[in-house]
Amino acid sequence: MRPRSAACRICGGAAIPGESGCEELAGLLCRNCRRLIPWIDEPVCFRCGRGETCPDCVRAHGPRGYEMSRSAVRYTPEMKAWLARYKYRGDERQSVLFGAMLARAYRRHYRDLRPDAIGFVPVTAERLEERGFNQAERMAMEAGRRLGIPVWNLLVRHRQTDSQSRKNRRERLRIGADMYEASGTDASRLDGPRPKTLILVDDVYTTGSTLAACATAIAARAACRIYGLTWAR
Ligand SMILES: [Zn+2]
Ligand SMILES: [Zn+2]
Repeated sequence: MRPRSAACRICGGAAIPGESGCEELAGLLCRNCRRLIPWIDEPVCFRCGRGETCPDCVRAHGPRGYEMSRSAVRYTPEMKAWLARYKYRGDERQSVLFGAMLARAYRRHYRDLRPDAIGFVPVTAERLEERGFNQAERMAMEAGRRLGIPVWNLLVRHRQTDSQSRKNRRERLRIGADMYEASGTDASRLDGPRPKTLILVDDVYTTGSTLAACATAIAARAACRIYGLTWAR
């Protein structure tokens, strides 16, 4: 009898073994779902890891607090649907899939990095209460388990007030840096003589402002080299 774990984590069909270049996904997806994945294997933008020419990074001036970012997949309509369903259901069996995809991206882009730990972008306590889980944390935990890298809870996200959400883009970017604080339960691990190398995980990289705000919050506590790793870009 085929074990339950060999069901496709997206559609429930018969999962296939890993293929060359995709060993991480062994037993997690059926052939049809596997074909839908738009991997970003060759980033065009060195900074943010985008798979095509990137006007965002050309426009952005000055330091952003992180070294670079890389993503597993392009954020196509299919990938949007996968993530939306995962965020809605919070299915633990899907965390395994998303984490496996992140682990694949790590091996592809950060193989020689030797980070001290993997961190993740937090949600507010209210959001956690409402949804019951933080998808970035779940993906980070699964990727860390697969890669043998510890996952540290480094950041806390403060609640945004209504007046803040009405501000213009420049003001929002400034306030964004105050929204995160390096006071998570493992934040004391940042203290110490040696600068740490960290991977910071999020589900989607859109403008890079979230990653920049988190990196700024960590830098306010300790000198670190921070590399973004997101599921989609
Ligand atoms: Zn499937
Ligand atoms: Zn870019």
